[in-house]
Amino acid sequence: MRNWIIVGIVIVSLLGLVFVQYDYLRAGLLLEHTRLDQRIDDALGDMYLKLVGDNEVREMTVRMLVSKRNPLASPEYLLPEKLKDSIHFLIRTFLGADSLRMDYAFALTNEDQEQIFLATNRYIPEGEKQLSYHLPIGGIAPRACNCTPYFRLQINNPVNYLLGRMAYLIIPTVIFILLLALCLGLLIYYLSYQRKLDAIKNDFINNLTHELKTPVFSIGMLSRMLKTAVHQGQQDKAEEYAGLIEKENEVIKGHVERVLELASLEGRNFQMERQRLSLHSLIGEMVGSFRTQVQARNGKMEVQLRAVNDWVAVDPVHLRNVIQNLLDNALKYQNGSPYVALSTRNEEHSLVISVEDKGIGIPQDQQQKIFEKFYRVPSGDLHQVKGFGLGLNYVRQIVKAHGGQIRVFSKMGEGSKFEVVLEIEDA
Ligand code: ADP
Repeated sequence: MRNWIIVGIVIVSLLGLVFVQYDYLRAGLLLEHTRLDQRIDDALGDMYLKLVGDNEVREMTVRMLVSKRNPLASPEYLLPEKLKDSIHFLIRTFLGADSLRMDYAFALTNEDQEQIFLATNRYIPEGEKQLSYHLPIGGIAPRACNCTPYFRLQINNPVNYLLGRMAYLIIPTVIFILLLALCLGLLIYYLSYQRKLDAIKNDFINNLTHELKTPVFSIGMLSRMLKTAVHQGQQDKAEEYAGLIEKENEVIKGHVERVLELASLEGRNFQMERQRLSLHSLIGEMVGSFRTQVQARNGKMEVQLRAVNDWVAVDPVHLRNVIQNLLDNALKYQNGSPYVALSTRNEEHSLVISVEDKGIGIPQDQQQKIFEKFYRVPSGDLHQVKGFGLGLNYVRQIVKAHGGQIRVFSKMGEGSKFEVVLEIEDA
């Protein structure tokens, strides 16, 4: 709960930050706009001196104005281009490097722009999206056109230019905000994952404690009965009770081994103690009690240990759990009387352990998902089957930790086959 309050505070802070930054950005844009106006005013002031002073630009301007007023005057083909070049040069001189970043256009017109004496291609007389500046040209120019000539400068896409000038602030701001948002997303993801994990752990522990109570209670009672039987010299009874104690002990052992699955929740910190052993003898130790479970449900179990070389280097506790998990699932996910086949075979330099059932099967598109933590195939009628969706994830982690492979083959309604492939450990 406290964590979610922190998340809430972080979200509000992030939104606040975005808002403040947006406001700063707007203020920054306004400031840049004012600075741009100032720079252009200064530049136009300098240009004015060139346009009215005694120099080549003024002389070309006057000739340009005269030629426009009097169409009969001999046309000077190169004059407009030469004048444009000179004005470009002046703009670059007075606006400096900024002029290279600006998309600008200019024109020489009369006062109300009815007459355009000279204009660069991108000049738009009544452009609204442009920033426009103008400057009346005094001196001898008005006499040349019998009007008040204006020099007009236009900045196209001024917002791009202004944003470009603020890029050094905008880009890091956007990057940092995105990074913060990403971290927030991860925080939320981890928190909900942790919550799920806690719930599962509690469930797991509750179930386990509950299930341990019965055999522990039975063992206590059976031990007392055993003692009495021994005292009374009832050999048959004593043996029967000892057998029952052994069975209950198996149940406890199974539960305790499941606790190892719980450890798989925490990641890869498995304590592995690998030793070279014969897999067939390990299987042999497990088959007996499992067969009893299958038979108790009127089922059939087949064991075919076909591998010629069954020597592997494995952690016996974990590998036993792996096989037990696969066998349990084979039994769990079957309707009616179950059929489970456990077999081994050699494949090149490996040993393949196969657990097959004729159960409900797994849909094709879920066959890889079932190895994910907490994943359970959503199936209507068999949801009473107990489970946490951890078994196969544990199986995969252990098989991987042994450098092996796990494969699944399944068809809906026909059954499933899980294969664990382990490398053979030669003598
Ligand atoms: P759990 O059995 O505790 O739900 P597992 O990780 O062992 O978790 O299995 C994940 C899911 O894969 C199960 O919920 C089940 O839907 C499906 N599954 C596993 N083994 C089989 C099988 N032999 N036949 C059909 N479905 C299976």
